Amino acid sequence: MAKTPVIDFHVHVARPEDYHPWVVEWMQSLIKNVSIEQFRELMTPPALIGILDDCGIDYAVILPDMHPKTVGTVTNEFVAEFCRGSDRFIPFASVNPHLVNNPRAELRRCLDDLGMRGLKLAPTYAHFYPNDPALYPMYSLAEEREIPVMFHTGSSVFKGSKIKFGEPALLDDVAVDFPNLTIILVHSGRGFWYDQAAFLARLHPNMYMEIAGLPPQKLMTYFPEFERLADKVLFGSDWPGLPSLKKNMEDIRALPISDEAKTKILGGNAARLLEMSA
Ligand SMILES: [Zn+2]
Repeated sequence: MAKTPVIDFHVHVARPEDYHPWVVEWMQSLIKNVSIEQFRELMTPPALIGILDDCGIDYAVILPDMHPKTVGTVTNEFVAEFCRGSDRFIPFASVNPHLVNNPRAELRRCLDDLGMRGLKLAPTYAHFYPNDPALYPMYSLAEEREIPVMFHTGSSVFKGSKIKFGEPALLDDVAVDFPNLTIILVHSGRGFWYDQAAFLARLHPNMYMEIAGLPPQKLMTYFPEFERLADKVLFGSDWPGLPSLKKNMEDIRALPISDEAKTKILGGNAARLLEMSA
C-alpha cells in the first residue's frame, strides 16, 4: 500500500504589497525579522517546495485572501497561477460575498476556469454570517461538486476581525441544511469555542476541525479526547503565519497519541476529502 501523504491544509501565498502593512509586519516579526525582499522570495513556488520538502510535507492547500477590510487582497487568479508551478499545490478559492454580486457564479468560475478544488470563507475577516441564506446557492454548488468548504472560526490577530461571525455553532445550520457538504472548522473555534467545535465535528458526519494556528503542545488541553477525534481533525499550519513550520510538525509528531491517529491527522483524512489516493 502506498504511503499516506502528509498534507498541510492551510498555506497562504502573497506578494508583500497584497497584504496590509501590519499583516506583513506581523509575519516578519514571526519569521525572525525577515526583510521584505526575503519575504517576497519565500513566497515563490520553488521556495515553498523547498520548505515542504524540508518539513516532510507532500502537498499543500494554497489559499487566496479576498479580505481587503482586514488582511488584504490575494486574488484567486494569483493563487491559480502560483499553483500551476507544481502538482503539490492544491488551489482553493476565496469568495467574499461583499465583493461579488453572485457568490455561486464566482465559485463556479473558480472551479471551472481556474481549476480550484475547494473553497475557503472567512466570515470574521469579511463580516458576514456563514449561515446567511443568501449564501445557500453557493453551498449547494459546493455540495453538488463535492468540494470541501473551509470556514474561519474563532479569533484572529488581524485588526478589524469580528469574532461574532466566527462562532462554530453558526455552521450547524449549514451542516443540517447541506448534509452532504464537507465543512471544515478552520482553527477549531480558536479562543473560547474549542468544545463547541469538537462537539459539532463529532455530531455531523461531514464536519471536520482544522488545527492551523493552534500550538501543538496545547492540543491535548484544548481537546482532552484528541485521540478520539482523530478521524475528524486536519493538520494545517497557516504558513507563513507561524515561527517554524518544521518545529510545528515535530511537535505534532511528538503528541502522546497513536501513530495511526497522527497519520490520519497529518494527511490521511485530508487525502480522503480531496479524493487523493492514499
Ligand atoms: Zn490563515
